[in-house]
Amino acid sequence: MNIRVQKFGGTSLGSPERIRHVARLIKNSKEETKDAFVVVVSAMGHTTDELINLAKQVSSVRNSREMDMLLATGEQVSIALLTMALHELGLKAISLTGFQAKIKAEQVYSKARILEIETEKIKDYLKNDYIVIVAGFQGITENTEIVTLGRGGSDTTAVALASALNAKVCDIYTDVDGVYTADPRVVPNARKLKEISYDEMLELASLGAQVLHPRAVECASYYDTIIHVRSSFKNEIGTFVKGVNELEVKNSVSGVALDKNQVKIALLEVPDIPGMAGKLFTSIADKGYAVDMIIQSVHGKETNDIAFTVSRDDFEEVEKIAKQVALEIGAKGVIIDENVAKVSIVGAGMVGRPGVAATMFNVLGEAGINIQMISTSEIKISCIVDLEKSELATRVIHEAFIEEKSLQAV
Ligand code: ASP
Ligand code: MG
Repeated sequence: MNIRVQKFGGTSLGSPERIRHVARLIKNSKEETKDAFVVVVSAMGHTTDELINLAKQVSSVRNSREMDMLLATGEQVSIALLTMALHELGLKAISLTGFQAKIKAEQVYSKARILEIETEKIKDYLKNDYIVIVAGFQGITENTEIVTLGRGGSDTTAVALASALNAKVCDIYTDVDGVYTADPRVVPNARKLKEISYDEMLELASLGAQVLHPRAVECASYYDTIIHVRSSFKNEIGTFVKGVNELEVKNSVSGVALDKNQVKIALLEVPDIPGMAGKLFTSIADKGYAVDMIIQSVHGKETNDIAFTVSRDDFEEVEKIAKQVALEIGAKGVIIDENVAKVSIVGAGMVGRPGVAATMFNVLGEAGINIQMISTSEIKISCIVDLEKSELATRVIHEAFIEEKSLQAV
């Protein structure tokens, strides 16, 4: 039995018509392939946001257990409706909640990880020619508590199911037709990629390209499950996310990402003695805040400046912590710059190709864009630039690395 796992996101299921359309898509794929189908769904449209809103209207106390209980209902509506739409087309189908599908998760409300999936029951239904419709985004703990997997978590349910069922490919149907070389709203010449590696996708996902849930990509990479990101509105091949060794071409740069969700915090004239950076970043980490880019620059003989970026949502809290630490260690002061953004290039083929960073910096320089901070990993180079110039930065970098190599993308 060849098993296929498909996932349909909220927009693809946003109305009764769309649900019926998805049912027809599944019917067509089933007739074409004769495979056994497991379909994972998200909540309809903006249901999850609406449920969060409802909760706010009845209470200001946020109880994470009850939030998960509430949010899990969104996907339960979708599984039942999609199953009914399949019945309408004369197909055998059955809906299962996360609990019924035995999606076992850790006991952490609102961002649980899937631990394992017992697939016997699903396989039994498949053997009896049922299409199995599973609620995404939810799992069940050892103590039969309902937990959710974090916003966008249905992708992870789908990939975890595909991996557990040994399906070679997991189709993620969404409202975009694939993964692009850049955000088309910023770079009109952005192109859809034919394929991209797990690591590149993870970098792009964490850089704000909200196509796939990062944990879904991690899971796919671990089990070597290929993800096919495609549109439920167009009958076209999308982008395949797969292992780097299976890529046809390893691009030096596959994509350019722009992240405007950054704020720069700088501690001025920090005493140049051991332990200062440790103290600062431990105080921030202990409160649960993640720091992104960090630079330290020499400032005279006895002091350094330390600058770093954090997400816009966290900066006010982190600013308080930084001010407290500055006082304790005798730094001169703290300055905040909200007028920044991060532009990054990502490419599996960067490894062993010197000059990629130099080209990026030259391109920015020629466009009159000042680089405030730089960070690199094996497959990524990021620069912090002025917020106002960040879209221009994205375009000139895209032009230099991607538009000149038209063979690399489709
Ligand atoms: N319905 C959930 C959300 O909106 C899960 C998902 O869409 O994947 O975050
Ligand atoms: Mg979603």
